[in-house]
Amino acid sequence: MSDREDWQDRTVVITGGARGQGAALAVKLVARGCRVIVGDVREDEGRALADRLGARCEFVVLDVAEPASWQTLKAPVARAGRLDGLVNNAGIFDPRAILDTDVGLFQRHMAVNQLGTFLGLKFAAELADGADLSVVNISSISGLRGTGGVAYTGTKWAVRGMTKMAAAELAEHGIRVNSVHPGLIDTKMIDAIDPEKLARRTQQIPMRRRGSEDEVVDVVLFLLSSASRYVNGAEIAVDGGLSV
Ligand code: NAD
Repeated sequence: MSDREDWQDRTVVITGGARGQGAALAVKLVARGCRVIVGDVREDEGRALADRLGARCEFVVLDVAEPASWQTLKAPVARAGRLDGLVNNAGIFDPRAILDTDVGLFQRHMAVNQLGTFLGLKFAAELADGADLSVVNISSISGLRGTGGVAYTGTKWAVRGMTKMAAAELAEHGIRVNSVHPGLIDTKMIDAIDPEKLARRTQQIPMRRRGSEDEVVDVVLFLLSSASRYVNGAEIAVDGGLSV
């Protein structure tokens, strides 16, 4: 699936890759000889990651919700001379009941999770000229079920929907687009869940445990690799069965 030849000299952009699942993906891609461009608003963590990973990892400050911010990716991608993968991974998560969700909270989720993914798709579509590009949109189990608060869940369903549209529209330009739907994964993001609720929810997972970053990363690697060359518009849950 992800043998060395498949990755050498390829270039992948990861949004929200300064920590968590995005950073874990950067580590695995660089280990396979891939060039990685990480974009995030967390400057210190992003730069520390790039320092740790060496010349094959470049960090750029990127706010996915700001259209102009995407320009910062253009120079590193041009220097690399190619783009083989884009992982729209940046996300925020503040799960609240409808009555506790004000317009500001709702709009912040829309800006980062939904608009950010749309701008990523646009970036890919603009670059692609005879491309062979795999785009992976990180949605959530909250894009398959009604869980995670109205703002987060609404945007993650939107990511799933935009994935289908983009897969249909961009295939003829050499771009595949798929979505990944993590369940409960041990990253800092789930600190936003009340510990008792998290314990209860973990017990509801058929596999009775939460997932690790690497367990999501391995599925993303498959979607980025040529092993998935005929997979387009698919949605893959990585959730220990929580969404069944
Ligand atoms: P995380 O909080 O560690 O990582 C999210 C990253 O996105 C952070 O580095 C953050 O700085 C970055 N980010 C936030 N806003 C940004 C912006 N405007 N521009 C650029 N970067 C921004 O959490 P994670 O678990 O690694 O999350 C990765 C993805 O997985 C997210 O899309 C998240 O919604 C999704 N997800 C996570 C879980 C889970 O259980 N951890 C479950 C389902 C889906």
